[in-house]
Amino acid sequence: RLAPPGNGLPDYISAMSAPRQLTEMRLPDLGYNAYLCRYSEIALKGRNRASFERAAVANLKRLLEGLPLSVRRERGRVFLQPEPPGDTLTAGVVEALRRQTAKCFGLVSGSPAFLTAPELPAIEAAVDRSFGAVCAAVAAQLGEGMPIPYAMRARRSEHRLGMTSREIEIHFADRLLTRHPCLRVNLDNPLLRVEVEVRREHAFVSYERFPGPGGLPACTAGRVMVLLSGGIDSPVAAYLTMRRGGAADFVTFHSAPYTPPATVEKVARIVRILREFQGEGTLYAVNLAEPQKLIRDRCSERFRTVLYRRLMLRVAAELARRREAAALVTGDSLGQVASQTLANLAVISAATPMLVLRPLIGAEKRETMDLARSIGTLAISEEQVPDSCTVFAPANPVTKAPLPLVEAQERRLPPPDELTRLALAQTTRVNVDTLETGPLPPDPA
Ligand code: ATP
Ligand code: MG
Repeated sequence: RLAPPGNGLPDYISAMSAPRQLTEMRLPDLGYNAYLCRYSEIALKGRNRASFERAAVANLKRLLEGLPLSVRRERGRVFLQPEPPGDTLTAGVVEALRRQTAKCFGLVSGSPAFLTAPELPAIEAAVDRSFGAVCAAVAAQLGEGMPIPYAMRARRSEHRLGMTSREIEIHFADRLLTRHPCLRVNLDNPLLRVEVEVRREHAFVSYERFPGPGGLPACTAGRVMVLLSGGIDSPVAAYLTMRRGGAADFVTFHSAPYTPPATVEKVARIVRILREFQGEGTLYAVNLAEPQKLIRDRCSERFRTVLYRRLMLRVAAELARRREAAALVTGDSLGQVASQTLANLAVISAATPMLVLRPLIGAEKRETMDLARSIGTLAISEEQVPDSCTVFAPANPVTKAPLPLVEAQERRLPPPDELTRLALAQTTRVNVDTLETGPLPPDPA
């Protein structure tokens, strides 16, 4: 790997922060003429393969809109070529590809590459033309005279050259090692990996891999409604669900005029970032102040948080139903705060028959923060803005609220359907760019 995670965590944990892996080596403008994309293998299983590929390509095209590139799909590989054909990728385009690859669910990596005819002399010529500059750049980053840990890797999808992958590797390794004494073979942890891929119509030569987020192509797994606060956790929960193909809409709860307009504005900025990964996603803002006051005035203080949460789930489930979403998503993590004990999560979930997903249930705060940083939401989440739940929060919330007691508390309130309707009457769709408000989705029933 070019990109050691370097945080000392076991692989299964550092894999959660995949977008953060940086290719440590920076290469100069080499005049590449292609960009090779690699899917997450998991997307390619079974009968869904073609539709996953189409979805991944459509999403990639969206992410690359405006760049002078054409996208080609060919037997399990997607690659890009400069437009018009014959041009090379400018340094600016390569940088944009690095950035956008990190946002494209379903891709494990992408490589700027030299596309050649699938013949040995053409491949050799591409390597010879570029390798001097590659070596010089790596040497400059390592320090002059330091040996460059290097590996030669070959793949072939066709018996084109009359050579096995191993034979191709040995052929190029021999060539490079005799001409460039600065190279030291290091198959386990190379800094420089020379990759040759031979396919039926083309061959590709590349030296860098830009990491993708992996996962499944955006919006291929059905819709979800994410309960998005201004906090650190729920944007990450949204991201993880989206990375598995969930198409997310968002709902946030505020308590105007007890919370300022900045509460919703902050969430809108978070949605702007999350939307980039899937190209769509609507934000709904619910003013919960009136029902919260009823709860504050009629119910016992220690139950407030659980009662607010149950109401939030009911309202979110109604919005989800109207958007034909199949599940709700929250940023709960087991035991983090009083409302996130197992007992309270169960009582909160019991407020709605709809499936509630909690992708962060086993996450450590530190892991969540690392992911939030790599997604780009952490800095916004850390801004101090009042939150709907904190303005009416009890000093001493219950950590284990038995359902019968919670239901007894709710009998002091208007019936749940009525409270939900009251909240929906105070709900707007929010244009996250202009902050203009619009109407709710119609009730399909
Ligand atoms: P977060 O960092 O996402 O706010 P948290 O650790 O602060 O989470 P809580 O405040 O207990 O935990 O909220 C748990 C979950 O409930 C949140 O992750 C979110 O999904 C949902 N939630 C809480 N408050 C709101 C809100 N005002 N609007 C929308 N969803 C909310
Ligand atoms: Mg919170």
